[in-house]
Amino acid sequence: MGNEIVKDSETVAKKRKKIGLTSAIFIALGLGIVCGVVFYYCVPAGFVRDDVFVDGIFYVVGQGFIRLMQMLVVPLVFCSIVCGAAAIGDTKTLGKVGVKTLVFYLCTTAIAVAVALGVASLISPGLGVDMSAIVTGDTSSLDSGGTETDGSITTMLLNIIPTNPLGALAGGDMLAVIFFALFVGIIVAIMGRKAETVHSFFEQFNDIMMKMTTAVMYVAPFGVFCLLARTFSGVGFEAFLPMLKYIASVLLGLAVHCLVVYMLLLAIFARVNPITFLKKFVSVMVFAFSTSSSNATIPLNVETITTKIGVDRSIASFTIPLGATINMDGTAIMQGVAVVFTAQLFGVPLGPAEYATVILTATLASIGTAGVPSVGLITLSMVFNSVGLPLEGIALIMGIDRILDMTRTAVNITGDAVCTTVVARQEGRLDLKTYNDPDAGKEAEQMDASV
Ligand code: ASP
Repeated sequence: MGNEIVKDSETVAKKRKKIGLTSAIFIALGLGIVCGVVFYYCVPAGFVRDDVFVDGIFYVVGQGFIRLMQMLVVPLVFCSIVCGAAAIGDTKTLGKVGVKTLVFYLCTTAIAVAVALGVASLISPGLGVDMSAIVTGDTSSLDSGGTETDGSITTMLLNIIPTNPLGALAGGDMLAVIFFALFVGIIVAIMGRKAETVHSFFEQFNDIMMKMTTAVMYVAPFGVFCLLARTFSGVGFEAFLPMLKYIASVLLGLAVHCLVVYMLLLAIFARVNPITFLKKFVSVMVFAFSTSSSNATIPLNVETITTKIGVDRSIASFTIPLGATINMDGTAIMQGVAVVFTAQLFGVPLGPAEYATVILTATLASIGTAGVPSVGLITLSMVFNSVGLPLEGIALIMGIDRILDMTRTAVNITGDAVCTTVVARQEGRLDLKTYNDPDAGKEAEQMDASV
């Protein structure tokens, strides 16, 4: 009798286990979009739609989920970089990984802008557009996310060194946090046994943060559903019509970069099957798409790239947060297309010199773009200024930017993961057995697995 009950509960548990987290997030994504569209077109505006659902339940659950993930970012980044640097140990290897990562990040961003300029020149998104039909966005809604985008390069460089590390941690100043954590990690490695207690403290704290990430992911399907339902209940398809060519250019640029450039880089420089990477990574892309925030995606990205892809934690813990802060290929693509769009709309001629300037400034703008929603539009002004384009162009694309922000964020974080995989492979720190195992890391993500 007792045995039968145990058996029955095991079968039920097995059945329930079948819904993996990735599938649940995908279903939530689709349902959220459908629900949002139905709300926009079929439910009359009023207290129930707007106050109870859109700005009530959807907003609270969606933002609550993002805040839960953001809550983990600073402690996770700090601890995992300390542990990563301490594990690598020698500063020479650390320097080599750092330089390779930086070069890779900068080059892929420059390629991304070039792809965008090419695609936009082919499609000509700004020709034949009826300006009066475009829904102009409200520039006051833009929040720089705490990034100093208006400072000079020297100030930006100096700000990497925090005068008060606790202030940097409290303010979520990522580059300063990364710098301080790297320094602590290197010293911990140099001190060896003398700093053993501190080392194991950070290692245990890091494990706790990873467990918390897994725990927070249980509510991901609900968060994703509410985030998408809210977004789509606020935008109708009418707003997209006059901008279709612009949207198509950005999406095509993103697709080419993600599905051609990244896949080639994986095949050539990491010598692995890129399709395997995509299959394992798609849930992180959906997460970034739903939250529009590279920063909020850091914990899930680090976990996926280590447990499913097989990158050594000592590399991923350092390169993923760095990438989420300075490597924004998707944003650079939007900026490249926006330049061509606005130039065509306002009749400003662009020659080879202007194209080269855009590649340079958009790459720099990518470094200055914080990994939170909409900041790419703020740094776009720097790119526009460099080639003398009117800033009104930004107000024109703002009305439909939300959906593109979601898509480019998915590409931004994919770029970080691809680079991390390549660097890890070259340093002999990619476990090919994990990479090629379709079930690697899955046990952690079953909906009913215990935390
Ligand atoms: N939302 C983007 C990110 O977090 C930044 C942007 O392009 O606005 O990566």
